[in-house]
Amino acid sequence: MEKKDHTSLLESHGIRPTVNRLLIVKTLASLRHPVSVKELEDSLLTLDKSSIFRVLTLFREHHLVHSIETGEGIVKYELCLSRHTEGDDDEHVHFYCERCHRTICLHDVPVPRVPVPEGFSAEETNVLVRGICDRCLRL
Ligand SMILES: [Zn+2]
Ligand SMILES: [Zn+2]
Repeated sequence: MEKKDHTSLLESHGIRPTVNRLLIVKTLASLRHPVSVKELEDSLLTLDKSSIFRVLTLFREHHLVHSIETGEGIVKYELCLSRHTEGDDDEHVHFYCERCHRTICLHDVPVPRVPVPEGFSAEETNVLVRGICDRCLRL
């Protein structure tokens, strides 16, 4: 993604592009997998945790990132690949490896539909499978 694309990505989500916001979008786009605030901090170096957290919270409000809880109190963030600014249409299953602590996007696995009781309306389904990834199993 070019710098121009990052700017228009922010603008299309109603977010004013600032240096920090552009930097974080660029980093998320290049990493291609969900990362924690700590991992972002490590790869950015110029930004502290609270600035990163503020930007991510803003992104989430504008549906520019998804957040995924790994179940160990760590939240990971990834760029939303949906072009819609209202709601997400790029739901997918995540796999959390308990050995290498990577969170992997499984785009080819269908998201199971969980039936909800009458009178409820499901807006979003988060599926996280925990286990050992292929890379770790081969070691
Ligand atoms: Zn692993
Ligand atoms: Zn993902």
